[in-house]
Amino acid sequence: MYQTQLHGIISVGDRVLVPFGNKKSLEEGFVIELKEKSNYKVKDIISIQEGIKLTKENIELAKLMARRYFCNISDCIKLMLPPGTSTKLMENRVKEKSANFVYLIKDIEDIQEDIDNNVIKSEKQKRVLNFLMQNDDIQTVDLEILTDTTSVILKTLEKKGYIEIISKQVVRNPFINKKIHKSDNLILNEEQQLAFDNINKSINENYFKEFLIYGVTGSGKTEIYLQLIEQVLKKNKSAIVLVPEISLTPQMVDRFISRFGEKEIAILHSKLSIGERYDQWNKIKKNECRIIIGARSAIFAPVNELGLIIIDEEHDSSYKSETNPRYNAKELAKYIAKKNNIPLVLGSATPDMVTYFQTQNKNIELLQLTKRANKSTLPKVEIVDLKQELANGNRSILSVKLYNAIEENLKNRKQTILFLNRRGYSTFVMCRDCGYTIKCKNCNITMTYHSKGNKLKCHYCGYEQKNVTVCPECKSNNIKYFGTGTQKLEQEINKLFPQASTIRMDVDTVTKKNSHEQILQDFKNKNIDILIGTQMVVKGHHFPNVTLVGVIAADSSIFSDDYRANERTFQILTQVAGRAGREKDSGKVIIQTYNPDNFAIECSQKQNYDIFYNTEIELRKQLKYPPFCDIISIVLTGEDEEKIKTTSNKLYKRIASFIKNNNLNILIYKPLPCPIDKIKNKYRWRIILKCKLNNKVINLISTSLENLDDKKTRIIVDTNPANLV
Ligand code: ADP
Ligand code: ZN
Ligand code: ZN
Repeated sequence: MYQTQLHGIISVGDRVLVPFGNKKSLEEGFVIELKEKSNYKVKDIISIQEGIKLTKENIELAKLMARRYFCNISDCIKLMLPPGTSTKLMENRVKEKSANFVYLIKDIEDIQEDIDNNVIKSEKQKRVLNFLMQNDDIQTVDLEILTDTTSVILKTLEKKGYIEIISKQVVRNPFINKKIHKSDNLILNEEQQLAFDNINKSINENYFKEFLIYGVTGSGKTEIYLQLIEQVLKKNKSAIVLVPEISLTPQMVDRFISRFGEKEIAILHSKLSIGERYDQWNKIKKNECRIIIGARSAIFAPVNELGLIIIDEEHDSSYKSETNPRYNAKELAKYIAKKNNIPLVLGSATPDMVTYFQTQNKNIELLQLTKRANKSTLPKVEIVDLKQELANGNRSILSVKLYNAIEENLKNRKQTILFLNRRGYSTFVMCRDCGYTIKCKNCNITMTYHSKGNKLKCHYCGYEQKNVTVCPECKSNNIKYFGTGTQKLEQEINKLFPQASTIRMDVDTVTKKNSHEQILQDFKNKNIDILIGTQMVVKGHHFPNVTLVGVIAADSSIFSDDYRANERTFQILTQVAGRAGREKDSGKVIIQTYNPDNFAIECSQKQNYDIFYNTEIELRKQLKYPPFCDIISIVLTGEDEEKIKTTSNKLYKRIASFIKNNNLNILIYKPLPCPIDKIKNKYRWRIILKCKLNNKVINLISTSLENLDDKKTRIIVDTNPANLV
């Protein structure tokens, strides 16, 4: 179509087909702006596609994100499109009980290499792989329709070792399908009522305001959410509820269903198959349901008229995306709430330091719940000094106190959770004679020993090798394993308490077929005595019969390089403690540590957020960390380390001289290798800036990144990344 013919027909948000590059094929694109004239030679638009159209608000948000997160606008737009977008829709999907699902079993980077190097020649095979690199875990039937291929192609790829096809139970509507009793509003206590009234005012009078409900676990935050949503529905508007991916459990969703009925509720998270996600997306788009519960990306749900956004467990790091686009869902939620003149409600028992700081300077209104709503008492927390245990001659993983407590709990037929933040068997392998530690050949990081299969594994890139018995450096066979992981812990527990049943939950036991949800259900329903696990056991679960929680080593996170190490330690210990004694039986928590004097550990024992906050905020102020400024990390990665060094220095000089010439209040640190300076054979260097990220800084960085004349190096700009590795 020629430009003149498009006048009056085309509008912002339209999906169009355009011939791109030198390729003959057509590419899909979206209209993000209309102009009368262009200074560039432009391609013709071949056609406007029916069906999918983005709203003006979508485009506006995508533009804002591209700028704010230094990424491509098309990557942002993708987040707003229906899952698995294609002109062919999937309405004839099978409804049988089990179906075949496809998973990639090769590294994405290796696949990309094979495609680039023409190892894979068939267009259809390429299409399938390209699709899977973006949407894993899809039914074969859906995949065939979406990529216009046949089962023969899939079989070939399976034979070549790119994919595996697994038969799995299909639950079309994963959380729904069972009888749930209707629940009625509870009578709010005074603190809950105050919080409710404040937020409800903003709902009724249509103005933006940000709130933090700060209340211990069980203080009745969810009950407030439910009653607020009721108000929103009365106004015929919708509500988005964000929760951390891992706490999006059936138990959690059931509470919403029991109040509002399953018809009103859509669920969005990455474990749904693409067909299921598409169904949910469509229900929202058609306004068939008005309550959207989901992980981070549910903030992009195509809601018709938004009335409220809730972010539960707002301190959770999963709200920040660590892949492109590196957005922060909390930031975007605020932007969207402002646009819609509606309240944004954050909830936590251990608020993010940055959030709490803003309640102090009144940018966010603080609403506090000080007691548990169902009158159960908070668990008693004890700290055990492991140095003292050693001095007393106890070399076991368990202190005397924890050992006795487990024994007693077993006697009383109560359940126990043991938490250890390291998976695998032992955390590193070292030669006693020369001190050599075994490192991954792709990453500069120590390998972890896994007893299953007698292997060493790299937790960064997944590389595995056979265990070593002879030192590669000095040929000594005095090889020793250091540190304890969950695997070893489970083995020790089985030795110490042979009568007890145990179940383990970590990345190695949680698989696509054996979900973390399944493990937790088994723990609960089969009344298994002891659950052993990493972080995954910490969040949001409710086990009435758990009366003891043991933290095996509360030291691992404290000495990491990250400025949030104290905060993370406090949060995780407080949360893990919250798993004990949630009903009539009172709970006990035992924290083992080599650093009983660390203030984060002390505060978690007292379960005193205020003291923790006051101490930590002073440190942040002195060291100039968030909330006093933002940390902007510019990471340069690639295979050619010399090239990276040169480009890093060039970029550094550009930014530094601009700062100097304009007398800007920005701290810049010279380029240095990242703490983990090699991952997957790619070297990593970084430049760190400390300042408030405002328009001026965004412009400065964007301009500096232009024309660096280095096509080999990838540059990733990330503001306040969740992990500074
Ligand atoms: P949170 O979300 O802060 O963890 P919940 O809303 O889940 O807290 O409440 C914890 C428990 O207390 C739940 O069993 C809930 O039904 C109960 N509860 C909440 N509010 C009240 C209330 N006002 N009166 C009685 N029980 C309540
Ligand atoms: Zn050696
Ligand atoms: Zn590795």
